[in-house]
Amino acid sequence: MKPLAELLKEAEGLHGKLCPGQVIGVRMAVVGCREIGISEPQQDRRLRVWAEIDRCATDAIQAVTGCKLGRRTLKFFDYGKMAATFLNTEAGRAVRVVARDDARELAGRYAPRVKDKQEAQLAAYLAMPESELFLVHPVAIALSPYDEPGHPLKRVRCQSCGEGVNDDREVYQDGRTLCRPCALGGYYRLLGPGEEAAASTEEGPAQRGVLRDE
Ligand SMILES: [Zn+2]
Ligand SMILES: [Zn+2]
Repeated sequence: MKPLAELLKEAEGLHGKLCPGQVIGVRMAVVGCREIGISEPQQDRRLRVWAEIDRCATDAIQAVTGCKLGRRTLKFFDYGKMAATFLNTEAGRAVRVVARDDARELAGRYAPRVKDKQEAQLAAYLAMPESELFLVHPVAIALSPYDEPGHPLKRVRCQSCGEGVNDDREVYQDGRTLCRPCALGGYYRLLGPGEEAAASTEEGPAQRGVLRDE
């Protein structure tokens, strides 16, 4: 791996700014890759990452690992947790790295003289030992062929909305093949004739998901 300062520069480039989340994400990716024996950013498809939050740190993880959602080497599970799992498919080894909940309080000890809260956090997350920032657990991952990079293995048509569904994401319900939003409810609702777009006035998952940045 490149030196931390260089990795942070790359993360800043992708994310648009250097924030405490970039430091957490970069260090998380460094720990994760090291623990599964990966020393270089992704050149092939050997490394897979599962991110559990749609916040700053996930951009940093992408920058360091080279794993991408569109290449199917990065998966996103919306758990709302500052955590990610790193898998070396060749070695069959995976670890889940979780940012410790008490890292925020511990951070106060590392930059007591920095007045600005964000800057203090950033300095602290750079200085804190790994063991105070993260918990690391070996994990097993059930890999489905439908999740692999490469061409889709399967495509069906939803019998309700008519849209195509790739790679076994369909649901079988009462003898019908349905897409997930038709079967389980989705994040959107088609507007009726004359209805105004009303994204912000309805309480739904899309609105509850993002309340503040950092
Ligand atoms: Zn950020
Ligand atoms: Zn459908």
